[in-house]
Amino acid sequence: MPPLWTSAQIAEATGGAASAPFAVSGVAFDSREVGPGDLFVAMKGETTDGHKFVDKAFGQGAAGAIVSEPVAHPHVLVRDSALALEALGVASRKRMGGKLIGVTGSVGKTGTKEALFQALDRAAPGQVHRSVNSYNNHVGVPLSLTRMPRDSAYGVFEMGMNHAGELAALTRQVRPHVAIVTAIAPAHIEFFGTEAKIAEAKAEIFEGLEPGGTAIIPYDSPHVATLYNKAERHAARILTFGMSREADIHALEIVAAPGGGSLVTAKLPDAELCFTVAAPGDHWVSNALAVLAAVDALGGDLAAAGLALAEMPGLPGRGERHILPVAGGQALLIDESYNANPLSMTATLTQLGRETAERRIAILGGMRELGDRSAELHAGLAEPLRAGQVDFAILVGAEMAPLAAMLDGFIPYVHVPDTAAAIPLIQTEMRAGDAILVKGSNGVGLSRLVATLGQAA
Ligand code: ATP
Ligand code: MG
Repeated sequence: MPPLWTSAQIAEATGGAASAPFAVSGVAFDSREVGPGDLFVAMKGETTDGHKFVDKAFGQGAAGAIVSEPVAHPHVLVRDSALALEALGVASRKRMGGKLIGVTGSVGKTGTKEALFQALDRAAPGQVHRSVNSYNNHVGVPLSLTRMPRDSAYGVFEMGMNHAGELAALTRQVRPHVAIVTAIAPAHIEFFGTEAKIAEAKAEIFEGLEPGGTAIIPYDSPHVATLYNKAERHAARILTFGMSREADIHALEIVAAPGGGSLVTAKLPDAELCFTVAAPGDHWVSNALAVLAAVDALGGDLAAAGLALAEMPGLPGRGERHILPVAGGQALLIDESYNANPLSMTATLTQLGRETAERRIAILGGMRELGDRSAELHAGLAEPLRAGQVDFAILVGAEMAPLAAMLDGFIPYVHVPDTAAAIPLIQTEMRAGDAILVKGSNGVGLSRLVATLGQAA
């Protein structure tokens, strides 16, 4: 295999100077992630300076570094490491001859990115590159670009933002052939004020579309017009997906599949496809429709994509299901501890209502970054809790006070200050036949509750 980058290529792309010839097979900027043969990019952050970790990176086997101060290891010296990473990302994009897909949205980016990766990889094994984790910001996107092998057939990139203008910059680096907006929800709304402004900012992803590119947008979103108008200016083709029959790609029928997933019959522009989505809930059906829209736009193998969706492994903290042994039987734990906003809370509570269970328990942590709409949006979860037939709720954190007030007299609940207080509560409460949903913003730390219950299992 040719190296991912040589020092000469790095120097040329970044305008830097190489201290010695070297070649690398991977790229990292977090010293904890550096492995043998990697390029370590020493970045100056607000709190830490990557240059302090250069020795550590080489101790772990780094083969070279990008630095803005000379070091005693093979390196390319640049003026600004962050700009150099971007330049290397852009060079990577330029030399790659395959097709790129950008995925953004308020929720479902990682899930959709992973599902699309599986769908494409099934037809072209080993030829699909994707960003890892949620590496979707001004550092994560260029890093993911630099890691892309030049002969990749496809590159799938998660792209996120907290502020207007951020996606515009990222999409110009990725220059996707296909750009997906999964859904719009009041996530990060404290930085935006309104959901409409979030939709506008998400639509920036279309600005970087390659000529002839395709925009994929959620038909059922109240903001479909905003997305469509922007897409019309930049895309050669627009594909809508959703539950509505008017969407270009839509579900004709959804029935529950064994194990919690869905059996879906979908209408595509030129085909009808029957497939299983392993991950439970209509929100996953929606993500699956977006995946099929992308595969269709790329002229890919729809049947292979359908098979991949049936085998998608659960993603930690995003709907992963655990069976816990408890006295007299088992309980089902649905781990949604990775994040939460009003849309994803509603989607997963709806799914909880469909689980076969003797009792439904929702352990809900606060939703962060909702600014001055926080109280109202937390209180608004009362209706989805009722619709999800929740028998008992454990509300975690101060943000949950407005919801607690709404539940008084309707749904039994306990309101606790933090995850540590919730753990013993559920440990004594849990019994056979329970379906337990655990969901909250990552910062609430409900993943610790999931881990504790899992260890006991
Ligand atoms: P982040 O901004 O943190 O990277 P993300 O956009 O990558 O988030 P995912 O990690 O894919 O989002 O999903 C997070 C949660 O959102 C899931 O656990 C699920 O509860 C919910 N979710 C996923 N897809 C959808 C959807 N299409 N509609 C509503 N909720 C969804
Ligand atoms: Mg993500």
